[in-house]
Amino acid sequence: MFEVFIAFLFGFFGLCFGSFGNVVIYRLPRKISLLKPGSHCPNCKKKIKWYDNLPLLSYLLLGGKCRNCKKGIGIRYLLVELLTGSLWVVSYLLFGLTSLTFITCFVLLAFIILAFIDLKYFEIPDSINLFLALLGLLALFVAPLEGKILTISYKSRLLSLFSSLILILLFYIFSRLAKKELIGGGDLKLLAAVGLFLGWELQILGLIIASVIGVLVEIPSRLISKKSLKARLPFGPYLVLGFTISLFFGLKFIEWYLSTFQLI
Ligand SMILES: [Zn+2]
Repeated sequence: MFEVFIAFLFGFFGLCFGSFGNVVIYRLPRKISLLKPGSHCPNCKKKIKWYDNLPLLSYLLLGGKCRNCKKGIGIRYLLVELLTGSLWVVSYLLFGLTSLTFITCFVLLAFIILAFIDLKYFEIPDSINLFLALLGLLALFVAPLEGKILTISYKSRLLSLFSSLILILLFYIFSRLAKKELIGGGDLKLLAAVGLFLGWELQILGLIIASVIGVLVEIPSRLISKKSLKARLPFGPYLVLGFTISLFFGLKFIEWYLSTFQLI
């Protein structure tokens, strides 16, 4: 019973922080303060009363429309709240009531925010990468990532900083050779920032997962929509998807792989 109650709390606070995430997604790229003024309708500018600003509930009660001007509120608002709430519950179920879980929750919130900003603006704000780096730094001291056999220790996390620098250098060299930018600067900073949290093993696994999903989704969808294969690609959403999968299941996968081939 206790576990169900705690899982419910994680879901509840996830919804609330997801609601704040929506504010960040809207305001950060527009360079508006995150705290003032209070929430208002982007269409009619009317201030939103607290009872119309409850996560999930208000959206459903108002039928996804502003109470004043009846203009539709994007489905994105609901999606971000639900995504944050459910990922927070999954974090608790996977990692229990630990410092790792709390840090993971905020990493995931930052992931969701940057994915939606990158999708729209083709840019990952430096402030979000900085926030992720700070969480990684905090995790270095308090939150080891432990599997059944393997543990991601601070050594692995520091090594990831080193491997990030090498990856950045490689991308830089290949970009120079190919005479075009293969991956955005924000993506590389994200890679380095998240590596500090994930450790190099899960960081590289996440990068591979992101690339595979990116290719599997982008090529068919571009062929169907007749969009050029060279059109700009927001890689951020794929990266955070890859990192999330790697964070949740990467250690289990690596342990399974190593034991199957009797390497451990
Ligand atoms: Zn309105």
